[in-house]
Amino acid sequence: MFFLGHMVWAYVWAAVFAGKPREKIFVPAVLMLGVLADVDLFLRRIGVQHHTLVHSPIFWLLIFTPFFIMYRQRALPYFAAVVQHFLFGDFLVGSVMVLWPFSSLLLGLNVSMSSLLDVIIETVGLALAAIVSYHSGDLRFILSVDIHNMLMMLPLMALLSSMMWFSVDWAIIPLLGNIWSRKLVTAIVFEHIALAIVLSLSTFQGLRALAKIQLARYT
Ligand SMILES: [Zn+2]
Repeated sequence: MFFLGHMVWAYVWAAVFAGKPREKIFVPAVLMLGVLADVDLFLRRIGVQHHTLVHSPIFWLLIFTPFFIMYRQRALPYFAAVVQHFLFGDFLVGSVMVLWPFSSLLLGLNVSMSSLLDVIIETVGLALAAIVSYHSGDLRFILSVDIHNMLMMLPLMALLSSMMWFSVDWAIIPLLGNIWSRKLVTAIVFEHIALAIVLSLSTFQGLRALAKIQLARYT
């Protein structure tokens, strides 16, 4: 799954676990937590393989224990944002060591990236995230002039760097050769652009809020 899918599904799953009446969820944090498990892409040098322990629920349960003790069920949407990455996204599109440390078996449905099914899953996630954020008021908040929106810069940078990584690394994507795949690639690229625009607007609004605060200080 692309960072796009991991991020939008992180938001959707976080909203599912936010409880009723719905706790406010901090969207930039949820989007970043949605791709956090892929930090293991940078840990190969110290011997941690991609899709292994950092893609297992037990590992994150240990990390989240202090947060559950401090914040109780309010930590749940953020935990859901992290674990959906591999229990949902990478499990469908790929395979992961979900049973670590009890077994190093790689489990998953191994749907190919940029295949029809992958693009459908990512598109549905984007559509659901749009609907949920619209109805919950989150969309209005992330597009408002608020200093917190500056932090949207982080998921924006993560999304843009993943787009650059894939644009030079297309060769790993199967099915690219046939025409259907090209249309699917076009669709997924447009979805990346749409999400990048929303995240850029939000970051811009955060920067505007900062500028306002600074201006008020000197006038
Ligand atoms: Zn992953």
